Amino acid sequence: MYSLYLENQDDRQAAEMFGRLMMLWHHCEITPIQDAGGAGITVYRDPTLKAEGYRLTCDGKTAAVYGNGKAGVVYGLSALLTHYGPNGFADIDLLKEPRLPFRGVQLYMPPKEGVEGFKRIIDMLAFMKLNTLILEVGGGMEYKKHPEINEGWERLCTSLTEFPGGPTGFQNTDVYHKDSVHTELGGGSFLPQETVRELVDYAKGYGINVVPELQMLSHAYYITAAYPQYAERHEDYFPDTTCPHNEDAYTLYFELAEEVIDVFRPRMVSIGHDEIRVLGLCDTCKNYSGHELLAYEINRLHTFYKEKGIRISMWCEKLQSTKNYFTGEMSGGGLTDETDGFGRRWITPATYEAIKEIPKDILFLDWLYGWSWDSQEESENNGFRQIFGNFHGEITRGWERRLASPCVIGGETSSWCRADEFTLGRDGIIGDFWYSAMMLWDTGFDENNHNEYMEKMRNEMPLIREMLRDKPSASISMKQKANAVYTGGPSSDFYSLAPAELPERGIWKQLKKELPTAMYGTPLGQSALVFPVEREVKHIAFVHTCMAQREAILSYRLPIKESCPAVYAIRYVDGVTLFAHVCFGLDVGHIEMDFGRHIGYEGATPEDPWGFDTDQDQCPDPPLYAFNKPWKNSLLYSAIPFFFGHNNCAYIMEWENPRPDIKVERVFAINNVKTKEEQVILFCAAVV
Ligand SMILES: [Zn+2]
Repeated sequence: MYSLYLENQDDRQAAEMFGRLMMLWHHCEITPIQDAGGAGITVYRDPTLKAEGYRLTCDGKTAAVYGNGKAGVVYGLSALLTHYGPNGFADIDLLKEPRLPFRGVQLYMPPKEGVEGFKRIIDMLAFMKLNTLILEVGGGMEYKKHPEINEGWERLCTSLTEFPGGPTGFQNTDVYHKDSVHTELGGGSFLPQETVRELVDYAKGYGINVVPELQMLSHAYYITAAYPQYAERHEDYFPDTTCPHNEDAYTLYFELAEEVIDVFRPRMVSIGHDEIRVLGLCDTCKNYSGHELLAYEINRLHTFYKEKGIRISMWCEKLQSTKNYFTGEMSGGGLTDETDGFGRRWITPATYEAIKEIPKDILFLDWLYGWSWDSQEESENNGFRQIFGNFHGEITRGWERRLASPCVIGGETSSWCRADEFTLGRDGIIGDFWYSAMMLWDTGFDENNHNEYMEKMRNEMPLIREMLRDKPSASISMKQKANAVYTGGPSSDFYSLAPAELPERGIWKQLKKELPTAMYGTPLGQSALVFPVEREVKHIAFVHTCMAQREAILSYRLPIKESCPAVYAIRYVDGVTLFAHVCFGLDVGHIEMDFGRHIGYEGATPEDPWGFDTDQDQCPDPPLYAFNKPWKNSLLYSAIPFFFGHNNCAYIMEWENPRPDIKVERVFAINNVKTKEEQVILFCAAVV
């Protein structure tokens, strides 16, 4: 138990998170006190540090945290959490300051039922030392003056979720590739303004800057669903783009923006503007060039926000003229002229010259950096500042080379999925956030240390999972002792797991003592494997692996196929049976796992977007890495993978029993695949 003294009461939210996590992770109680003299942990503001910087000093018994501003304090307390061990706080004296000032993520407005869970996601952002949350609003927040926008948004999401192939299927049904719809935003619905305000204030409690994203021009489905007459293309049954010369569309957009500004009180608003593929079609617009249309529209929005003292940021691809590294052609703002499979021609006019006609205080979100080494130089040469948008730190090559340009002030990692713990974990986004945040913060980051960072990530992901779920989960297998363990008998040497390979914690440490030489893996095979339990249980931890790899499908590529190569049936003494689903990529992964990365050739040519047939000698220095294996980040987040034998990998799946007071009679482990080459191998089940 430690007492904690807080110099500045504005840091109470940070101290509360610290107390909650000390209890959750370390079973250590933190008591707030009024007097610095008697405190085990003292927390001070220190304006002499660099913005957001912190200093930590611990002598083993007491600890002091000095932070500049709310952010510095919460980062210092977060760091302190990771320096606690069985003997208390480690003996340290640390001074840390950020590498880059803009460290962000993009999230959708959360679903109604996920508001509390979203606060835990905000906790995680502060813990990862991220200081900016770009929150996509669209039709996902209540508009008091325009309820028809919210109704239109709900109708659109329902329709397109039911479209063959889901929203992704819908995108491929027109003469051009339509904008992605983001039907997972707001869970396909919207939040009351009061709730949004509460979430914005919660983020501000950690010093997080919240940037609402309210799109215009492209990604304007939320507007055209209610007002199809504002679309550039009237014959479209679900148009994605508004007309840049429609005055009524501006009037509506500004009224929506007034409500967003009232709720967020933002310093910056993102206006979107990625994927502009419909331009210059209507009777008015066809008289202007693409450059003129884009510049006119951006300037209208800029004037509106500037009068309110608000900066704008935007996706900048339509303002870029850099060459694609792989194809040598202009990407982004160049003219596109394509013909589809029915011979229909689709032209999007060039727009890149608009960069000369817009104010320099617009912050660019550059997401074409992965196809070009010098996209940041184009921003710099035109007098703009930029961040890397859709920043995937782990696959970004040449970090120091990139940061040589003074116009780069940071990055933001996007999620593009339902903003809840399950989906972010499943789509591998949490690992993406973690690695990217580290690169943006850490002045000592070294691109060559990928293996070392993977090890750190593997250790930290189960803790983040507990933080987001706000309850112990990983600690079942990592911290507790098992009441009983069921293992298979010797069957095949190939599937044996020597005790030395088990994690050195909790149940697994216990098993190491009990197992003489090896734990044998039992292929689930043709008939169900049955083991008796005959006791009341709180949790069951399964150790297993899967013989075959499966394709990774992101959550928005609906419909997601059921992907359970096995299922555990838990039979209770009262006759009830519950199923623990073993989902591939979440609960189990391929036996040949590899957390490494290689130099990537993805995006090689339009005909070969994944670079499978690329002559690799032609592109020896691509801007990206690629993961060696799919599902890496989702498995690291949810399955506690560990290696055994020769590069083989097993996974720990923890199942929480919703009926802990009823005795479990037995567990059936059931194969759910057609061939033995795909089956799951079960090593053991431990009962707590
Ligand atoms: Zn028009």
